[in-house]
Amino acid sequence: MIQINENYQKLQPTYLFVEIGRRVAQFQRNNPDRDVIKLGIGDVTRPLPPTIVSAFSDAVREMGDARSFRGYGPEQGYGFLRDAIAQHDFATRGAEVSADDIFVSDGAKCDSGNFQELFATDITVAVPDPVYPVYVDTNVMAGRTGEAHDGRYRGLTYLPATRENGFVPSPPDTQVDLVYLCFPNNPTGATATREQLAAWVAYARENKALILFDAAYVEFIRDDAIPRSIYEIDGADRVAVEFRSFSKTAGFTGTRCAYTVVPSACTAYTTDGTEVSVRDLWNRRHSTKFNGVSYPVQRAAAAVYTEAGRREITELADYYLGNAAIIRAKMTELGYACTGGDNSPYIWVETGRPSWQFFDLLLEKTGIVTTPGAGFGTCGEGYIRISAFNDREKVEVAMEKIGAAFA
Ligand code: PLP
Repeated sequence: MIQINENYQKLQPTYLFVEIGRRVAQFQRNNPDRDVIKLGIGDVTRPLPPTIVSAFSDAVREMGDARSFRGYGPEQGYGFLRDAIAQHDFATRGAEVSADDIFVSDGAKCDSGNFQELFATDITVAVPDPVYPVYVDTNVMAGRTGEAHDGRYRGLTYLPATRENGFVPSPPDTQVDLVYLCFPNNPTGATATREQLAAWVAYARENKALILFDAAYVEFIRDDAIPRSIYEIDGADRVAVEFRSFSKTAGFTGTRCAYTVVPSACTAYTTDGTEVSVRDLWNRRHSTKFNGVSYPVQRAAAAVYTEAGRREITELADYYLGNAAIIRAKMTELGYACTGGDNSPYIWVETGRPSWQFFDLLLEKTGIVTTPGAGFGTCGEGYIRISAFNDREKVEVAMEKIGAAFA
């Protein structure tokens, strides 16, 4: 008899987006002539920038020519892309990252979900609340938690991100082994200061812990005082892994390319306390289970680092940040406290009532779809997330409608 991994039985249904879809469908059935504007999703709407498309299509043509055809590439990614990443994403920020420590992949979702499998099942794990659900569910699947009760899994340490701590949790008083951090944050839009990240690095060093730092939204940071990489903090290379993605940065959600940095100094331990290189473990895992990102996609990603590519992706992020500014200004004007939307594409709005109630109210009054904060964790109750990933005209119309309905 083939038996299942019982841990999968503990997983809570992916209720959030299914339930949003159900309520929107119901609204549309009841109001067939009213427009719906979706500001709930985390997917981009703008096309790939021209320099990237051109590199992409040139590489496709290379693949169609016997003289330049390529088969399997290196599992870790082509040197041309890893070198460009090391130079432009890190060296220019004063963070030393070797190209050898960069692992190109097809998504930060898979990498941030898969990384935990390098570690023992009985390690302790801390996640922010609210949280990007992948960090939680993959640890549930791996058997690191008990059952869920009232929206929280037993055995996980939740780090509340609240108005009081500016949505940036401090290290806990207790000892944890693996910590997930994400800045700029999904869903709260909060960013962490150098001092806040330094406190986490110090905590990890003291506790021989590891930080999994998700920087998928780094391209939206405009304030130069905010660190873009955890490796801007001294000593982070010993205790932190960083996930990056071209998805939101360059419109690659459907093209798929990301990378993970695992510095060679980063260590974990055997049961007898012997140091082991996390980089070597990940390299082994990556080359066993992954066969590399397609050559044209890596060429397209490398074009991000050309002068024209940089300019175009900055314009792309500026476009969404322009939307975010419009959203934030309107919600603030209406008296709602907002976080994010300045160095992040998400605006986290304190609604003064239960998340789903506010979601329904907005939908009924204006036809605008947001994401109820409660769907991201207990501490998200009372908030909604508004996403800036949409067309400018739609955002403007949406905010006019909200202004008229809530003034
Ligand atoms: N990390 C965070 C925090 C995200 O919000 C997302 C996507 O929404 C991802 C990772 C996924 O990135 P990718 O498209 O590279 O898999």
